[in-house]
Parts: sequence; C-alpha cells; structure tokens
Amino acid sequence: MTIGVDDDESAFSRLEDNKGLAESWLRICGRLKGEVGEVEYRTWLTQIALGPIDGDEITLLLPTRFLRDWVRSQYGDRLSELWHNEVPALRRVELQVARPGDPAPLQLAEVAAVPAQNAPSSEDAGPANRPVAEVRSDLVTALDSRFTFDTFVVGKPNEFAYACARRVAEKPSSVGFNPLFLYGGVGLGKTHLMHAIGAELVKNGNVSVAYMSAEKFMYRFIAAIRSQSTIEFKEQLRSVDVLMIDDLQFLIGKDNTQEEFFHTFNALVDAGRQIVVSADKSPSDLSGLEDRLRTRLGCGMVADIHATTFELRISILEAKAAASGVVVPAKVLEFLAHKITSNVRELEGALNRLIAHANLFGRPVTLEATQDVLHDILKAHDRRVTIEEIQKKVAEHWNIRLTDMSSARRARNVARPRQVAMYLAKQLTSRSLPEIGRKFGNRDHTTVMHAVNRVTELMERDAAFAEDVELMRRMLES
Ligand code: ADP
Ligand code: MG
Repeated sequence: MTIGVDDDESAFSRLEDNKGLAESWLRICGRLKGEVGEVEYRTWLTQIALGPIDGDEITLLLPTRFLRDWVRSQYGDRLSELWHNEVPALRRVELQVARPGDPAPLQLAEVAAVPAQNAPSSEDAGPANRPVAEVRSDLVTALDSRFTFDTFVVGKPNEFAYACARRVAEKPSSVGFNPLFLYGGVGLGKTHLMHAIGAELVKNGNVSVAYMSAEKFMYRFIAAIRSQSTIEFKEQLRSVDVLMIDDLQFLIGKDNTQEEFFHTFNALVDAGRQIVVSADKSPSDLSGLEDRLRTRLGCGMVADIHATTFELRISILEAKAAASGVVVPAKVLEFLAHKITSNVRELEGALNRLIAHANLFGRPVTLEATQDVLHDILKAHDRRVTIEEIQKKVAEHWNIRLTDMSSARRARNVARPRQVAMYLAKQLTSRSLPEIGRKFGNRDHTTVMHAVNRVTELMERDAAFAEDVELMRRMLES
C-alpha cells in the first residue's frame, strides 16, 4: 500500500462527515453562481443533490434525465474541475438521476455568488453580460445588450419610471431630472432601465457613460485607497457625462464610501452631468444613508416601480415567449402569471426553463408539462393565504362586517359571502373542512362542504357571480 492511498483515505474520511462535504459544495455553488449568473444558476443548478463519494469519484443527483443530460453537457467539466480544486483526490463527477429515497438538494438559496475570475464580472444577477459598449474600460461594466427600452414591457406599475428613464436618455442633465432616482423591489426592472438608458445614450452620441453597482463602487474605492490611487479614481469618475449607480442601499453603513459618493455626486451635478441611481427604497426611506445625501438624492426626479399586476405579468410573458419563438399557449401564460407573482426575474426564469425544455424535447408546451417541469418553482411560490385574510377581503368586497363571518346570521346578503369565503378557504389553503368550519364560528364540516358545492354550482350558472369570485381569488393570490 502506498502513502498516497492512505492520504486519500484520510481526505475522504474527513469528507464523510456531511458538514465538510456540504461546505465544499456550498463553495462550488457560489463559484458557479458567479460564473453563470443567477437565472441560469437557479434554472439548472439548484436542483443538484449530493450523492455518495466512491474512490476518486463523487456522484451528483438530478431529479430527471433531462436535467442530468443538460447539466452534464453544459457544466460537467466545470463541476469536475471545481470538485477537484476542493478535494484534489476527486477526479470524476458522476451525474445520475435521483431515485426515491436519495438525498434532496441542499437549501442553496443563500449561496453567495463568487465573481468569476476570468470572465468579465456581471454587475447584476443576470445571465452573462454581452457587451455593447465599453466606456472607460476600468470604470464601467459592459452594458447588457438585452436590457434595452425595446425589450422593456411597459404597464401601469412601471410606466412612470419608464417615461423618466426615456426622458433622461433623450436629454441628459435636464433640470428636474437630475438625479434620476429609480426605486422598487427586487427583480422589477431597475437594472434593466439603467442599462437601457446607457445603451440609448451610447447609441445616440459620444457621451461617456459609467454604470456600476454601489457594491462595485465601494470595492473600486477601497482598492484605490489601497493602491494609493484615489486621485485617479476620483478624476476618472468625475470625467464621465453620465454616472449610474445601481442598488445604492448597499452603501448603508459604509460611511467612507458614502462620503466619497456624495462628493463625486456633487462634483458631477455641479458640472452639469447626469446621475442615475437605483435603490430598493425611496430616498426618504433609506434610513442609514446620511441626511445630506438623502436630501440631494431626492432633489431631482424620484420614480418608483410598483409590484407587477396580473396584466403586466401577462404582457411580459407574451413578449418574452414571442421573442423565443416557442409557442406557449395562453392558458400556460395565465397559469404562470397567476402563480409567480413575486417579481419579473422569477417569472422570466420559469418561462426560460419551459422554453429550454420545449426546445430540447421538441414537444409542445402544455399545462401538464408546465406543472411538471416547474414543479419545484411552483411549490416554492404557493402563496400561503390565511383564512383570516380571506374573510377580511371577502367581507370588504361584499360590504359585510367581519364578525358576520362567524356569526349565526343567515340572511342571504350575509350567508352568501360567508359561503364564498369558505369556498375560497378550501381552494386557496390546505386546511381541512373541519378546520375551516371552526374558523367560521365553529360550524360543522358538512356546512363547509355544502358551501363549497353551492358556490361551485352558482359559478356555473351565474357568469357575473363567477367573475366576482374569480376576482376575489386573484386579489388574494397576488
Ligand atoms: P431589479 O434591478 O429591479 O432587481 P432587473 O432589472 O434585474 O430588476 O430585472 C430582472 C429581470 O426581469 C431582468 O431580466 C429584466 O430584463 C426583467 N424585467 C423586469 N422588468 C421588465 C419589464 N417591464 N419588461 C421586460 N423585462 C423585464
Ligand atoms: Mg438590479
């Protein structure tokens, strides 16, 4: 027996404890996430489970053959490399389809992306950037050519922000629009709009545009301090025509960087340059930012992007499906728009996965296939509506008192909404009939069953009533 074998064995016995393995795997995932981008990572790589180690080979498990083949062809070599880096004794990664009883994927939702080393790093969690314009090479990340005004779908929740972005792209540094402050929840299109402004400006003339995340801004600033090149850094920053800083909330608590940003900001605005900033909250709600910075940020145009509506989600899905060339039936689009209400990024990820699946198998997209392919995503998005919420909304809608949901009153104008609430409780929650009955003034489960049947019947007979109930359901689901 050689020494090498002994070494290998000890390496593996360390790995046998799941913690070591899980930690290696977490690091690998972080690296992969940084390399492939958030969407791709979520679509394909979050479904991998760790299997056994045997000799110089580790097994990774995927839920379906399709996924196994895809991951093998796209990421197989890289996975082997990364595992080998973690555990030099490992030389092969075997990908297999999981069987019942096999381990489940780790909960990797919180895997932090590690920036790719050789690839240009992506400012935003999106697929790899495709450069259209590299301005001031050291200062700017390439703009993503997919994020243009043309590909941005406009609806009620974002029309104001869109109009402001358009305006700034047409006439930068106009009074009243400087700075432009875009804010809204995650995945609603802030980064998209900023890239669109950049692309438009670069297309139309020789303006220099600098776009970077606040995180990158801080990183550059610190690097400049370390290499004693802060003066160059500041000069570079102050020489651009348009400075865009994404996700400014990142600077909360980073006082020195805030200070630097504040000075750069003032210098640029005083010199008549345009600033565009995004954040997850309005300037006044960004507590933790210095007051004088918040004040200045709110001085120009502040535009918020609201959560998506069902209608906007449908429009976005339609546009993206059309661009993909895959026929996705309206039923499927409606289903997705109902189910995935969190943000556009998630919606897009789900649709992309469907489209990739359809392309690979050459099979038409159906509702059944959708439920199957997106099984895990849909499960995560199951909204947990409470019976209390249902009662409240229904009472408001039909203008009855909340207490009447559990009262003994049997007048039709009270009893009917109560039945609708029971029906919705059955449809939207996983509560049993007796549990539902208890929440409605300790009624019997047969009363709930009767209510469900009665409402179903009425919905079949009375289109207006059916529409009302559907509306309620939508409101509760989104
Ligand atoms: P944020 O920066 O607000 O977190 P992003 O701009 O990164 O969100 O948007 C997430 C994803 O959703 C991107 O791929 C983007 O193209 C897409 N997206 C968001 N809003 C829209 C929209 N209105 N039309 C088309 N795509 C959109
Ligand atoms: Mg963003």
